[in-house]
Amino acid sequence: MAVKRLDLVHLSVAGNKFYKLKYNLEAAVSNHFDKILTFGGAYSNHIYATAEAAKVVNLKSIGIIRGERVEPLNPTLAHAESLGMDLHFVDRSTYKLKKEASLLEDAVKKFGSFYLIPEGGTNELAIRGTSEILKPEDNSYSHITTCIGTGGTFAGMINSLSRGQKILGFSSLKGNFIHAEIKELLESHQINSEGDHQIFDQFHFGGYGKYNQELIDFIWWFFESFGIVLDPIYTGKMMAGIWKLIDEDFFPIGSKILAIHSGGLQGNTGFTARTGIKLPSLSR
Ligand SMILES: *Cc1c(COP(=O)(O)O)cnc(C)c1O
Repeated sequence: MAVKRLDLVHLSVAGNKFYKLKYNLEAAVSNHFDKILTFGGAYSNHIYATAEAAKVVNLKSIGIIRGERVEPLNPTLAHAESLGMDLHFVDRSTYKLKKEASLLEDAVKKFGSFYLIPEGGTNELAIRGTSEILKPEDNSYSHITTCIGTGGTFAGMINSLSRGQKILGFSSLKGNFIHAEIKELLESHQINSEGDHQIFDQFHFGGYGKYNQELIDFIWWFFESFGIVLDPIYTGKMMAGIWKLIDEDFFPIGSKILAIHSGGLQGNTGFTARTGIKLPSLSR
């Protein structure tokens, strides 16, 4: 088993978000937009990465954040704001309308024209980007694993599997709706894979953002054993899931596993601030 460290892919725009943002920012710049607008929760890796990436390419950024502004800002939002992201807080019911034309029309009136990146960052160009995560030299692995939030990363990687390879997606969200959502995503983006894929929806540890002591203990054990920091929202759940599957002899003898570390470590500081639970600190 090997771990592909997307958490180290760029100094500031870490993880799968680097790939999801890459062609979106290129499109924003080449179409002469001066700002991008996106949505996210208060601890969002996507908000953090978008603020970082916009700064790198000299675009202004606007973040529509779910919930009220609470001072002091948590580490994720404080960092995004320090990078120049213009944060706007909307109540939860308004936020639910985020995909709807009315909210976007209001935003255009308020901010002028902007390049829109959807919540979680998944769109056609994001999937083009995540199709580049697997490289030709990764062909020798029989199993690839990745985390699932919106599924944009999983979908892009399915796109680039080789014949005989299988990708396992670990959903961080509770519920079997994710199977239909991924199916819909693959159809709407016309993804036909040479490989195989399977979604696991039983390793959510209570749901998105939820955790238990077993997960925290696993993250510490993994760090002490391998020196790799995981996050409790995505990569910790996936890795704990892989270990469980290994225990259950899911992987045939001779399997070669490539686990994608999709990043998300910026959230660990906020997690500790929110819960008081210490996590391994960043190591490079
Ligand atoms: C955003 C994120 C994901 C989920 O990616 P999707 O493309 O939305 O499925 C997984 N892992 C980490 C660390 C993330 O930040």
